[in-house]
Amino acid sequence: MNSRRGARIVVVGAGIGGLAAAARLAKDGFSVTVIERNDQAGGRARLWKLAGYTFDMGPSWYLMPDAFERFFAHFGRQVSDYYKLRKLDPAYRVFFGPGQSVDIPADRVGQRALFDRLEPGGGGKLDRYLDAAAYKYRVAVDEFLYRDYHSVFDFLNWRMMTEGLKLNVLGKLDAAVRRQFSDRRARQILEYGMVFLGTAPTAAPALYALMSHVDLTQGVFYPMGGLATMARGIQKLAEEQGVQVMLNTEAVRIVTERGRAVGVQARGADGAAVSLPCDAVLANADYAHVETELLTPADCSFPRRYWERRVVAPTLLLLYLGINRRLHGLLHHNLYFKPDWDGHFNAIFRRPAWPEEPCFNVSCISKTDPGMAPSGCENMFVLVPVAAGLDDTDEVREAYADRIIRHLERMTGEAIAPHIQVRRIYSHRDYAADYHAWQGTALGLAHTLMQTAVFRPPLRSRKVRNLHYAGQYTHPGIGVPMVLIAAEVVAGNILRDHGG
Ligand SMILES: Cc1cc2nc3c(=O)[nH]c(=O)nc-3n(C[C@H](O)[C@H](O)[C@H](O)COP(=O)(O)OP(=O)(O)OC[C@H]3O[C@@H](n4cnc5c(N)ncnc54)[C@H](O)[C@@H]3O)c2cc1C
Repeated sequence: MNSRRGARIVVVGAGIGGLAAAARLAKDGFSVTVIERNDQAGGRARLWKLAGYTFDMGPSWYLMPDAFERFFAHFGRQVSDYYKLRKLDPAYRVFFGPGQSVDIPADRVGQRALFDRLEPGGGGKLDRYLDAAAYKYRVAVDEFLYRDYHSVFDFLNWRMMTEGLKLNVLGKLDAAVRRQFSDRRARQILEYGMVFLGTAPTAAPALYALMSHVDLTQGVFYPMGGLATMARGIQKLAEEQGVQVMLNTEAVRIVTERGRAVGVQARGADGAAVSLPCDAVLANADYAHVETELLTPADCSFPRRYWERRVVAPTLLLLYLGINRRLHGLLHHNLYFKPDWDGHFNAIFRRPAWPEEPCFNVSCISKTDPGMAPSGCENMFVLVPVAAGLDDTDEVREAYADRIIRHLERMTGEAIAPHIQVRRIYSHRDYAADYHAWQGTALGLAHTLMQTAVFRPPLRSRKVRNLHYAGQYTHPGIGVPMVLIAAEVVAGNILRDHGG
Protein backbone atom coordinates (compact mmCIF):
# COMPACT_ATOMS: atom_id res chain seq x y z
CA MET A 1 0.00 0.00 0.00
CA ASN A 2 1.39 3.42 -0.87
CA SER A 3 -1.04 5.64 0.99
CA ARG A 4 -0.91 5.62 4.74
CA ARG A 5 -4.51 6.74 5.20
CA GLY A 6 -6.01 3.93 7.23
CA ALA A 7 -3.17 1.49 6.48
CA ARG A 8 -3.27 -1.07 9.26
CA ILE A 9 -0.24 -1.64 11.49
CA VAL A 10 -0.16 -4.40 14.08
CA VAL A 11 2.37 -3.86 16.86
CA VAL A 12 3.35 -7.03 18.72
CA GLY A 13 4.21 -6.09 22.30
CA ALA A 14 3.25 -3.04 24.39
CA GLY A 15 6.74 -2.27 25.70
CA ILE A 16 7.83 1.38 25.66
CA GLY A 17 9.20 0.92 22.12
CA GLY A 18 5.92 -0.54 20.84
CA LEU A 19 3.70 2.06 22.51
CA ALA A 20 5.87 5.00 21.46
CA ALA A 21 6.06 3.88 17.81
CA ALA A 22 2.32 3.15 17.82
CA ALA A 23 1.57 6.70 19.03
CA ARG A 24 3.73 8.24 16.29
CA LEU A 25 2.21 6.04 13.59
CA ALA A 26 -1.35 6.81 14.68
CA LYS A 27 -0.56 10.52 14.61
CA ASP A 28 0.65 10.03 11.04
CA GLY A 29 -2.70 8.57 9.99
CA PHE A 30 -2.16 4.83 10.35
CA SER A 31 -4.72 2.58 11.98
CA VAL A 32 -2.71 0.97 14.78
CA THR A 33 -3.47 -2.01 17.00
CA VAL A 34 -1.05 -3.05 19.73
CA ILE A 35 -1.32 -6.58 21.11
CA GLU A 36 0.24 -7.45 24.44
CA ARG A 37 0.35 -10.85 26.11
CA ASN A 38 0.39 -9.48 29.67
CA ASP A 39 -2.45 -7.76 31.49
CA GLN A 40 -0.63 -4.40 31.64
CA ALA A 41 1.10 -2.32 28.99
CA GLY A 42 4.64 -1.01 29.53
CA GLY A 43 6.55 -4.26 28.95
CA ARG A 44 9.39 -4.48 31.44
CA ALA A 45 8.14 -1.22 32.97
CA ARG A 46 5.13 -2.68 34.78
CA LEU A 47 3.79 -2.35 38.32
CA TRP A 48 3.26 -5.03 40.94
CA LYS A 49 1.21 -4.34 44.06
CA LEU A 50 0.81 -6.25 47.30
CA ALA A 51 -0.19 -5.39 50.86
CA GLY A 52 -0.08 -1.63 50.30
CA TYR A 53 3.31 -1.70 48.50
CA THR A 54 3.54 -0.63 44.85
CA PHE A 55 6.67 -1.86 43.08
CA ASP A 56 8.14 -0.77 39.77
CA MET A 57 8.87 -4.20 38.30
CA GLY A 58 11.64 -3.11 35.92
CA PRO A 59 13.33 0.22 35.17
CA SER A 60 13.82 2.52 38.14
CA TRP A 61 16.38 5.09 36.91
CA TYR A 62 14.84 7.85 34.79
CA LEU A 63 17.74 9.16 32.71
CA MET A 64 18.11 11.32 29.58
CA PRO A 65 15.08 13.54 30.26
CA ASP A 66 15.71 15.27 26.91
CA ALA A 67 14.73 12.07 25.05
CA PHE A 68 11.34 12.01 26.80
CA GLU A 69 10.75 15.74 26.18
CA ARG A 70 11.58 15.25 22.51
CA PHE A 71 9.12 12.35 22.30
CA PHE A 72 6.21 14.25 23.86
CA ALA A 73 7.04 17.46 21.95
CA HIS A 74 6.36 15.58 18.67
CA PHE A 75 2.70 15.58 19.75
CA GLY A 76 2.73 19.19 20.96
CA ARG A 77 2.80 17.94 24.55
CA GLN A 78 5.28 17.94 27.37
CA VAL A 79 6.28 15.40 29.98
CA SER A 80 4.49 17.37 32.71
CA ASP A 81 1.17 16.84 30.88
CA TYR A 82 1.48 13.13 31.76
CA TYR A 83 3.59 12.77 34.92
CA LYS A 84 5.48 14.78 37.50
CA LEU A 85 9.29 14.48 37.58
CA ARG A 86 11.52 14.99 40.61
CA LYS A 87 15.29 15.44 40.30
CA LEU A 88 17.12 13.37 42.92
CA ASP A 89 19.71 15.22 45.03
CA PRO A 90 21.92 13.53 46.04
CA ALA A 91 21.59 11.54 42.85
CA TYR A 92 22.52 8.26 44.59
CA ARG A 93 24.68 6.71 47.31
CA VAL A 94 27.56 4.33 46.59
CA PHE A 95 28.71 1.74 49.14
CA PHE A 96 32.25 0.44 48.78
CA GLY A 97 32.09 -1.72 51.92
CA PRO A 98 30.41 -1.79 55.34
CA GLY A 99 30.06 1.76 56.60
CA GLN A 100 32.02 3.13 53.61
CA SER A 101 29.79 5.14 51.38
CA VAL A 102 29.76 8.35 49.38
CA ASP A 103 26.78 10.36 48.19
CA ILE A 104 26.91 11.61 44.61
CA PRO A 105 25.81 15.24 44.55
CA ALA A 106 23.52 16.36 41.75
CA ASP A 107 25.69 19.41 40.88
CA ARG A 108 29.16 19.75 39.40
CA VAL A 109 30.57 21.76 42.34
CA GLY A 110 29.72 18.97 44.77
CA GLN A 111 30.92 16.27 42.36
CA ARG A 112 34.24 18.06 41.92
CA ALA A 113 34.73 18.25 45.68
CA LEU A 114 33.92 14.54 45.99
CA PHE A 115 36.47 13.55 43.32
CA ASP A 116 39.07 15.78 44.99
CA ARG A 117 38.54 13.70 48.13
CA LEU A 118 38.88 10.44 46.17
CA GLU A 119 42.20 11.26 44.49
CA PRO A 120 44.63 14.17 44.14
CA GLY A 121 43.43 16.55 41.43
CA GLY A 122 40.31 14.37 41.00
CA GLY A 123 37.99 17.37 40.62
CA GLY A 124 39.93 18.82 37.69
CA LYS A 125 40.16 15.40 36.03
CA LEU A 126 36.42 14.96 36.49
CA ASP A 127 35.77 18.32 34.84
CA ARG A 128 37.80 17.33 31.80
CA TYR A 129 36.20 13.87 31.67
CA LEU A 130 32.66 15.27 31.88
CA ASP A 131 33.34 17.99 29.30
CA ALA A 132 34.51 15.27 26.91
CA ALA A 133 31.50 13.12 27.85
CA ALA A 134 29.17 16.06 27.07
CA TYR A 135 30.74 16.37 23.64
CA LYS A 136 30.33 12.63 23.01
CA TYR A 137 26.71 12.81 24.10
CA ARG A 138 25.96 15.74 21.78
CA VAL A 139 27.58 14.06 18.79
CA ALA A 140 25.88 10.75 19.59
CA VAL A 141 22.44 12.40 19.76
CA ASP A 142 23.00 14.59 16.68
CA GLU A 143 24.73 12.02 14.50
CA PHE A 144 24.48 8.42 15.63
CA LEU A 145 21.43 7.64 17.75
CA TYR A 146 18.40 8.95 15.84
CA ARG A 147 19.16 7.12 12.59
CA ASP A 148 19.02 3.74 10.95
CA TYR A 149 22.04 1.84 9.65
CA HIS A 150 21.71 -0.24 6.50
CA SER A 151 25.29 -1.23 5.93
CA VAL A 152 28.67 -0.97 7.52
CA PHE A 153 29.36 1.98 5.21
CA ASP A 154 26.57 3.95 6.87
CA PHE A 155 28.38 3.43 10.13
CA LEU A 156 31.87 4.12 8.89
CA ASN A 157 30.86 7.34 7.15
CA TRP A 158 32.98 10.47 6.87
CA ARG A 159 31.58 12.03 10.03
CA MET A 160 32.27 8.83 11.94
CA MET A 161 35.80 8.74 10.56
CA THR A 162 36.48 12.35 11.50
CA GLU A 163 34.69 12.29 14.83
CA GLY A 164 35.60 8.69 15.56
CA LEU A 165 39.10 9.51 16.73
CA LYS A 166 37.89 12.30 19.00
CA LEU A 167 35.13 10.07 20.31
CA ASN A 168 37.52 7.15 20.82
CA VAL A 169 34.99 4.88 19.14
CA LEU A 170 37.29 1.91 18.88
CA GLY A 171 38.96 2.23 22.29
CA LYS A 172 37.54 0.57 25.38
CA LEU A 173 35.94 2.47 28.23
CA ASP A 174 37.91 0.78 31.00
CA ALA A 175 41.27 1.64 29.41
CA ALA A 176 40.20 5.25 28.86
CA VAL A 177 39.05 5.68 32.46
CA ARG A 178 42.18 3.99 33.87
CA ARG A 179 44.38 6.38 31.91
CA GLN A 180 42.75 9.33 33.64
CA PHE A 181 41.83 8.14 37.15
CA SER A 182 43.90 6.14 39.61
CA ASP A 183 41.41 5.67 42.44
CA ARG A 184 39.33 2.51 42.18
CA ARG A 185 36.23 4.19 43.61
CA ALA A 186 36.43 7.08 41.15
CA ARG A 187 36.76 4.60 38.28
CA GLN A 188 33.82 2.56 39.49
CA ILE A 189 31.59 5.65 39.65
CA LEU A 190 32.49 6.44 36.04
CA GLU A 191 32.08 2.88 34.77
CA TYR A 192 29.06 1.45 36.56
CA GLY A 193 26.72 2.86 33.89
CA MET A 194 27.83 -0.04 31.70
CA VAL A 195 25.61 -2.25 33.83
CA PHE A 196 22.68 -0.29 32.33
CA LEU A 197 24.03 -1.19 28.89
CA GLY A 198 24.47 -4.83 29.79
CA THR A 199 28.18 -4.91 29.12
CA ALA A 200 31.56 -4.88 30.88
CA PRO A 201 33.67 -1.68 30.89
CA THR A 202 36.52 -3.71 29.40
CA ALA A 203 34.30 -4.58 26.40
CA ALA A 204 32.32 -1.33 26.08
CA PRO A 205 33.41 1.26 23.50
CA ALA A 206 34.97 4.32 25.15
CA LEU A 207 32.22 6.36 23.46
CA TYR A 208 29.98 5.16 26.29
CA ALA A 209 31.71 7.62 28.61
CA LEU A 210 28.67 9.62 27.55
CA MET A 211 26.78 7.69 30.25
CA SER A 212 28.60 9.83 32.84
CA HIS A 213 27.21 12.92 31.14
CA VAL A 214 23.80 11.29 31.48
CA ASP A 215 23.90 10.47 35.20
CA LEU A 216 26.29 13.11 36.57
CA THR A 217 25.60 16.16 34.40
CA GLN A 218 21.98 15.69 33.29
CA GLY A 219 21.02 14.05 36.57
CA VAL A 220 18.83 11.25 37.86
CA PHE A 221 15.08 11.79 37.91
CA TYR A 222 12.05 10.02 39.30
CA PRO A 223 8.48 10.22 37.96
CA MET A 224 6.11 10.34 40.93
CA GLY A 225 4.16 7.09 41.00
CA GLY A 226 7.15 5.16 39.63
CA LEU A 227 8.51 4.57 36.14
CA ALA A 228 5.39 2.63 35.27
CA THR A 229 3.60 6.01 35.45
CA MET A 230 5.78 7.11 32.55
CA ALA A 231 4.73 3.95 30.66
CA ARG A 232 1.08 4.69 31.41
CA GLY A 233 1.63 8.26 30.17
CA ILE A 234 2.92 6.98 26.84
CA GLN A 235 0.04 4.50 26.63
CA LYS A 236 -2.46 7.33 27.32
CA LEU A 237 -0.87 9.49 24.65
CA ALA A 238 -1.01 6.57 22.18
CA GLU A 239 -4.70 6.00 22.95
CA GLU A 240 -5.38 9.71 22.50
CA GLN A 241 -3.93 9.35 18.99
CA GLY A 242 -6.39 6.50 18.32
CA VAL A 243 -4.22 3.45 19.03
CA GLN A 244 -6.12 0.37 20.16
CA VAL A 245 -4.26 -1.57 22.87
CA MET A 246 -5.38 -5.20 23.29
CA LEU A 247 -4.06 -6.70 26.53
CA ASN A 248 -3.96 -10.44 27.35
CA THR A 249 -3.50 -11.10 23.64
CA GLU A 250 -0.56 -13.21 22.58
CA ALA A 251 0.81 -13.24 19.02
CA VAL A 252 1.39 -16.83 17.90
CA ARG A 253 2.27 -16.32 14.23
CA ILE A 254 3.16 -13.54 11.81
CA VAL A 255 1.51 -14.57 8.58
CA THR A 256 3.40 -13.81 5.38
CA GLU A 257 2.69 -14.11 1.67
CA ARG A 258 5.39 -13.71 -0.96
CA GLY A 259 7.78 -11.95 1.38
CA ARG A 260 5.23 -9.60 2.93
CA ALA A 261 3.47 -9.73 6.30
CA VAL A 262 -0.28 -9.88 5.77
CA GLY A 263 -1.50 -10.48 9.30
CA VAL A 264 -0.87 -11.60 12.84
CA GLN A 265 -2.55 -14.58 14.41
CA ALA A 266 -3.05 -14.22 18.12
CA ARG A 267 -4.69 -15.88 21.10
CA GLY A 268 -6.95 -13.90 23.42
CA ALA A 269 -7.24 -14.31 27.23
CA ASP A 270 -10.02 -16.88 26.81
CA GLY A 271 -7.86 -18.88 24.40
CA ALA A 272 -9.94 -17.76 21.41
CA ALA A 273 -8.07 -17.24 18.14
CA VAL A 274 -7.78 -13.62 17.01
CA SER A 275 -6.84 -12.82 13.44
CA LEU A 276 -5.50 -9.36 12.65
CA PRO A 277 -4.99 -8.60 8.95
CA CYS A 278 -2.54 -5.78 8.37
CA ASP A 279 -0.38 -3.82 5.94
CA ALA A 280 2.73 -3.94 8.13
CA VAL A 281 3.89 -5.47 11.39
CA LEU A 282 6.06 -3.83 14.01
CA ALA A 283 7.55 -6.38 16.39
CA ASN A 284 8.43 -4.95 19.79
CA ALA A 285 8.53 -8.33 21.56
CA ASP A 286 11.97 -9.85 22.22
CA TYR A 287 13.60 -10.06 18.79
CA ALA A 288 14.87 -13.62 19.25
CA HIS A 289 11.36 -14.80 20.23
CA VAL A 290 9.84 -13.20 17.14
CA GLU A 291 12.47 -14.72 14.88
CA THR A 292 12.53 -18.19 16.39
CA GLU A 293 8.86 -18.62 17.30
CA LEU A 294 6.57 -16.30 15.35
CA LEU A 295 8.11 -16.70 11.88
CA THR A 296 8.77 -19.71 9.69
CA PRO A 297 12.50 -20.45 9.19
CA ALA A 298 12.26 -19.15 5.62
CA ASP A 299 11.07 -15.75 6.91
CA CYS A 300 13.78 -15.38 9.57
CA SER A 301 16.53 -12.81 9.01
CA PHE A 302 18.95 -15.00 10.94
CA PRO A 303 19.38 -18.72 11.63
CA ARG A 304 19.00 -19.88 15.24
CA ARG A 305 22.77 -20.13 15.63
CA TYR A 306 23.01 -16.34 15.13
CA TRP A 307 21.20 -15.93 18.46
CA GLU A 308 23.23 -18.66 20.08
CA ARG A 309 26.41 -16.77 19.19
CA ARG A 310 25.37 -13.33 20.42
CA VAL A 311 26.78 -11.84 23.61
CA VAL A 312 23.65 -11.85 25.71
CA ALA A 313 23.25 -8.99 28.20
CA PRO A 314 22.99 -9.99 31.83
CA THR A 315 19.73 -10.79 33.41
CA LEU A 316 18.75 -8.96 36.57
CA LEU A 317 17.77 -10.85 39.67
CA LEU A 318 15.19 -8.72 41.45
CA LEU A 319 13.98 -8.70 45.02
CA TYR A 320 10.79 -6.82 45.74
CA LEU A 321 10.80 -6.28 49.50
CA GLY A 322 8.18 -4.59 51.65
CA ILE A 323 9.88 -3.55 54.91
CA ASN A 324 7.74 -2.64 57.91
CA ARG A 325 10.18 -0.05 59.26
CA ARG A 326 11.98 3.04 58.03
CA LEU A 327 15.57 2.48 56.88
CA HIS A 328 17.96 5.31 57.62
CA GLY A 329 21.06 4.01 55.86
CA LEU A 330 19.67 4.21 52.33
CA LEU A 331 18.80 6.96 49.85
CA HIS A 332 16.36 6.63 46.94
CA HIS A 333 19.06 4.92 44.80
CA ASN A 334 22.03 3.04 46.25
CA LEU A 335 24.78 1.02 44.61
CA TYR A 336 27.22 -1.45 46.05
CA PHE A 337 30.57 -1.81 44.24
CA LYS A 338 32.84 -4.55 45.49
CA PRO A 339 36.64 -4.12 45.31
CA ASP A 340 37.01 -6.98 42.80
CA TRP A 341 35.31 -5.06 39.99
CA ASP A 342 36.65 -7.31 37.22
CA GLY A 343 35.45 -10.37 39.14
CA HIS A 344 31.92 -8.97 39.05
CA PHE A 345 31.94 -8.67 35.25
CA ASN A 346 33.81 -11.95 34.74
CA ALA A 347 31.07 -13.85 36.58
CA ILE A 348 28.60 -12.37 34.09
CA PHE A 349 30.48 -12.56 30.80
CA ARG A 350 33.59 -14.76 31.00
CA ARG A 351 32.75 -17.56 33.43
CA PRO A 352 28.98 -17.29 33.87
CA ALA A 353 28.09 -18.28 37.45
CA TRP A 354 26.16 -16.95 40.42
CA PRO A 355 28.76 -14.51 41.84
CA GLU A 356 29.89 -15.14 45.42
CA GLU A 357 29.65 -11.49 46.34
CA PRO A 358 27.72 -9.56 43.71
CA CYS A 359 27.54 -5.83 43.08
CA PHE A 360 23.97 -4.57 43.23
CA ASN A 361 21.57 -1.62 43.15
CA VAL A 362 18.95 -0.98 45.82
CA SER A 363 16.18 1.49 45.18
CA CYS A 364 13.97 2.69 47.96
CA ILE A 365 11.37 4.75 46.11
CA SER A 366 9.38 5.35 49.30
CA LYS A 367 12.13 7.85 50.23
CA THR A 368 10.82 10.18 47.49
CA ASP A 369 7.31 8.82 47.09
CA PRO A 370 5.90 7.71 50.46
CA GLY A 371 2.66 6.57 48.80
CA MET A 372 4.51 3.57 47.34
CA ALA A 373 4.59 1.86 50.78
CA PRO A 374 2.29 1.80 53.81
CA SER A 375 2.94 4.54 56.36
CA GLY A 376 6.20 4.02 58.29
CA CYS A 377 7.38 1.34 55.84
CA GLU A 378 9.90 1.18 52.97
CA ASN A 379 9.49 -0.06 49.43
CA MET A 380 12.76 -1.77 48.57
CA PHE A 381 13.81 -3.01 45.14
CA VAL A 382 17.12 -4.86 44.88
CA LEU A 383 18.62 -5.47 41.46
CA VAL A 384 21.56 -7.84 40.97
CA PRO A 385 23.09 -8.23 37.49
CA VAL A 386 23.88 -11.91 36.88
CA ALA A 387 24.69 -13.97 33.78
CA ALA A 388 21.78 -15.01 31.57
CA GLY A 389 21.17 -18.73 31.11
CA LEU A 390 22.06 -19.76 34.70
CA ASP A 391 20.30 -22.49 36.65
CA ASP A 392 17.49 -20.63 38.39
CA THR A 393 15.83 -23.09 40.82
CA ASP A 394 13.80 -22.03 43.86
CA GLU A 395 16.59 -23.27 46.10
CA VAL A 396 19.31 -21.27 44.33
CA ARG A 397 17.39 -18.01 44.13
CA GLU A 398 16.07 -18.14 47.73
CA ALA A 399 19.56 -18.81 49.11
CA TYR A 400 20.93 -16.03 46.93
CA ALA A 401 18.28 -13.57 48.10
CA ASP A 402 19.10 -14.40 51.75
CA ARG A 403 22.76 -13.77 51.11
CA ILE A 404 22.07 -10.37 49.55
CA ILE A 405 19.79 -9.32 52.39
CA ARG A 406 22.51 -10.26 54.92
CA HIS A 407 24.99 -8.28 52.86
CA LEU A 408 22.70 -5.26 52.83
CA GLU A 409 22.35 -5.44 56.60
CA ARG A 410 26.14 -5.40 56.96
CA MET A 411 26.42 -2.52 54.52
CA THR A 412 23.82 -0.30 56.19
CA GLY A 413 24.18 -1.55 59.77
CA GLU A 414 20.39 -1.94 59.98
CA ALA A 415 18.18 -4.98 60.59
CA ILE A 416 16.18 -5.83 57.47
CA ALA A 417 15.38 -9.58 57.50
CA PRO A 418 13.09 -9.53 60.58
CA HIS A 419 11.11 -6.64 59.04
CA ILE A 420 10.26 -8.18 55.68
CA GLN A 421 6.51 -8.12 55.11
CA VAL A 422 6.54 -8.74 51.37
CA ARG A 423 9.20 -10.76 49.58
CA ARG A 424 9.16 -11.70 45.92
CA ILE A 425 12.08 -12.88 43.79
CA TYR A 426 12.07 -12.37 40.04
CA SER A 427 14.76 -13.79 37.80
CA HIS A 428 15.67 -15.77 34.66
CA ARG A 429 12.65 -18.00 34.35
CA ASP A 430 10.26 -15.13 35.08
CA TYR A 431 11.65 -13.02 32.22
CA ALA A 432 11.32 -16.07 29.97
CA ALA A 433 7.76 -16.80 31.13
CA ASP A 434 6.50 -13.19 31.14
CA TYR A 435 8.29 -11.75 28.09
CA HIS A 436 9.61 -14.76 26.13
CA ALA A 437 13.10 -13.46 26.89
CA TRP A 438 15.96 -15.24 25.16
CA GLN A 439 17.87 -17.24 27.83
CA GLY A 440 15.88 -15.33 30.42
CA THR A 441 17.81 -12.12 29.70
CA ALA A 442 16.38 -8.96 31.22
CA LEU A 443 18.07 -6.68 28.70
CA GLY A 444 18.54 -8.44 25.34
CA LEU A 445 21.94 -8.11 23.70
CA ALA A 446 25.05 -6.64 25.34
CA HIS A 447 26.52 -3.40 23.97
CA THR A 448 29.87 -4.70 22.82
CA LEU A 449 31.49 -2.93 19.88
CA MET A 450 30.41 -5.77 17.58
CA GLN A 451 26.83 -5.40 18.81
CA THR A 452 26.62 -1.63 18.39
CA ALA A 453 24.82 0.43 15.69
CA VAL A 454 24.97 -1.41 12.36
CA PHE A 455 26.03 -4.57 14.18
CA ARG A 456 22.81 -4.82 16.19
CA PRO A 457 19.84 -6.75 14.71
CA PRO A 458 18.30 -4.44 12.09
CA LEU A 459 15.15 -2.36 12.47
CA ARG A 460 13.77 -3.96 9.30
CA SER A 461 13.51 -7.69 8.55
CA ARG A 462 15.89 -8.90 5.87
CA LYS A 463 13.29 -11.35 4.54
CA VAL A 464 9.86 -9.84 5.11
CA ARG A 465 9.76 -6.37 3.56
CA ASN A 466 7.05 -4.84 5.76
CA LEU A 467 8.13 -6.43 9.05
CA HIS A 468 9.86 -3.95 11.36
CA TYR A 469 11.43 -4.24 14.79
CA ALA A 470 11.78 -1.77 17.65
CA GLY A 471 12.98 -2.28 21.19
CA GLN A 472 16.07 -2.93 23.21
CA TYR A 473 17.57 -5.58 20.87
CA THR A 474 17.83 -3.08 18.01
CA HIS A 475 19.84 0.11 17.53
CA PRO A 476 20.43 2.18 19.64
CA GLY A 477 19.80 -0.44 22.32
CA ILE A 478 19.03 -0.99 25.97
CA GLY A 479 17.19 1.45 28.22
CA VAL A 480 13.93 3.35 28.09
CA PRO A 481 15.35 6.46 26.33
CA MET A 482 17.03 4.19 23.77
CA VAL A 483 13.83 2.38 22.87
CA LEU A 484 12.05 5.74 22.54
CA ILE A 485 14.70 6.65 19.98
CA ALA A 486 14.28 3.33 18.14
CA ALA A 487 10.53 4.01 18.05
CA GLU A 488 11.09 7.34 16.33
CA VAL A 489 13.41 5.83 13.74
CA VAL A 490 11.24 2.82 12.95
CA ALA A 491 8.07 4.91 12.74
CA GLY A 492 9.92 7.06 10.19
CA ASN A 493 10.83 3.94 8.20
CA ILE A 494 7.22 2.77 8.09
CA LEU A 495 6.00 6.24 7.16
CA ARG A 496 8.47 6.39 4.26
CA ASP A 497 7.33 2.94 3.05
CA HIS A 498 3.86 4.42 2.79
CA GLY A 499 4.87 7.50 0.87
CA GLY A 500 5.44 9.82 3.83
C1 LIG B 1 14.77 -5.08 35.93
C2 LIG B 1 15.08 -4.06 34.88
C3 LIG B 1 15.61 -2.85 35.25
C4 LIG B 1 15.89 -1.88 34.28
N1 LIG B 1 16.34 -0.67 34.69
C5 LIG B 1 16.36 0.35 33.80
C6 LIG B 1 16.52 1.68 34.26
O1 LIG B 1 16.67 1.92 35.46
N2 LIG B 1 16.48 2.69 33.33
C7 LIG B 1 16.27 2.44 31.99
O2 LIG B 1 16.22 3.38 31.18
N3 LIG B 1 16.13 1.16 31.53
C8 LIG B 1 16.14 0.13 32.41
N4 LIG B 1 15.90 -1.16 31.99
C9 LIG B 1 15.81 -1.42 30.55
C10 LIG B 1 14.47 -1.00 29.98
O3 LIG B 1 13.45 -1.32 30.88
C11 LIG B 1 14.25 -1.75 28.68
O4 LIG B 1 15.35 -1.56 27.82
C12 LIG B 1 12.99 -1.27 27.95
O5 LIG B 1 11.91 -1.08 28.84
C13 LIG B 1 12.65 -2.29 26.89
O6 LIG B 1 11.55 -1.83 26.14
P1 LIG B 1 11.09 -2.55 24.81
O7 LIG B 1 10.34 -1.55 24.00
O8 LIG B 1 12.24 -3.24 24.16
O9 LIG B 1 9.98 -3.57 25.25
P2 LIG B 1 9.81 -4.66 26.42
O10 LIG B 1 9.71 -3.96 27.73
O11 LIG B 1 10.80 -5.73 26.24
O12 LIG B 1 8.38 -5.16 26.05
C14 LIG B 1 8.11 -6.10 25.05
C15 LIG B 1 6.67 -6.55 25.26
O13 LIG B 1 6.35 -7.56 24.29
C16 LIG B 1 5.46 -8.46 24.93
N5 LIG B 1 5.44 -9.73 24.19
C17 LIG B 1 6.43 -10.66 24.10
N6 LIG B 1 6.05 -11.67 23.31
C18 LIG B 1 4.79 -11.39 22.90
C19 LIG B 1 3.85 -12.06 22.07
N7 LIG B 1 4.14 -13.23 21.48
N8 LIG B 1 2.64 -11.50 21.88
C20 LIG B 1 2.33 -10.29 22.47
N9 LIG B 1 3.17 -9.62 23.27
C21 LIG B 1 4.39 -10.16 23.47
C22 LIG B 1 6.02 -8.59 26.32
O14 LIG B 1 5.08 -9.11 27.23
C23 LIG B 1 6.42 -7.16 26.62
O15 LIG B 1 5.37 -6.47 27.26
C24 LIG B 1 15.65 -2.16 32.92
C25 LIG B 1 15.14 -3.40 32.54
C26 LIG B 1 14.85 -4.33 33.51
C27 LIG B 1 14.27 -5.64 33.09
